[in-house]
Amino acid sequence: MKNRTALVAVSVWLCACGGGGGTTTVSPSTTTPVVVVPPVSPPVVPPVEAQTCSTPTSMQPVVLFNGTPMLAVCNGVYVEPAASAEEQLNLRESVALAYAAVTDFYTGFTAAHPDMILCKTAACRTYFMGTYAGVYSPLGFQLPGATYQAGKPTLFVTFTSFPNLGRQTIAHELSHVEFGFRIGDGGFPAWFNEGQAVLIGKSPDCTNQTVNWISDLRTLDGGAALANAVADSSKGDAIYCQSQREVAAWLAINGKQKFYDLLTGVKAGREFYSLYGNLVNQ
Ligand SMILES: [Zn+2]
Repeated sequence: MKNRTALVAVSVWLCACGGGGGTTTVSPSTTTPVVVVPPVSPPVVPPVEAQTCSTPTSMQPVVLFNGTPMLAVCNGVYVEPAASAEEQLNLRESVALAYAAVTDFYTGFTAAHPDMILCKTAACRTYFMGTYAGVYSPLGFQLPGATYQAGKPTLFVTFTSFPNLGRQTIAHELSHVEFGFRIGDGGFPAWFNEGQAVLIGKSPDCTNQTVNWISDLRTLDGGAALANAVADSSKGDAIYCQSQREVAAWLAINGKQKFYDLLTGVKAGREFYSLYGNLVNQ
């Protein structure tokens, strides 16, 4: 995914020089305009941020799955050993692309990088993330039904439970990391957090989701209310996609900078809706 493109505006000044005047008839002389081309500086290309996920650069803390070490495919990213070599390469690329997607949206990834645990089997899923298939746990608590306790911010994805080996799901979860860092302890609607994650991660796929199932998304401000609503699997993706459409519509009106300012304002203690205003996609 491309991050940014440096555009260099090349201006060309045309200097048309002519003369004449007075009473003397002078045949008009034709002067070829002088074309002055200002020197063009080379495009300013910002340094590419390290987005790769390759061999760990240091000894990684061991993460055990039922006594067996998980594979550290890059710094802080652990994959179930049952993953094939091809899957490991695919997941490395997914991690890099996820960072690129979040970096692109937020014009930078400012949060600390969480650990990632990527499971292939149901047993791994249950051990690490209990009833979840993909989740970001900012505090590293033991998740409901899980055995593992990370003790630090950790992103969990069962890559076999999602399309494309969870590629978009990893980006979705990683967007929660940056969002959470930027909004801090400020209060925010759960649907809004999910809306930006769906928008950035493109997960779930909202291509054919156009119906607003919820008459007022503000009824899903609370995390529990949203969780209950999406627990109905027939409507789960639809509600996530409705949240995405709301965020996308708000962004289309207000722009990215206001989005960033919104998070900063809420982090500083402002009430969310006093900055967000009315929902725009109802
Ligand atoms: Zn989410």
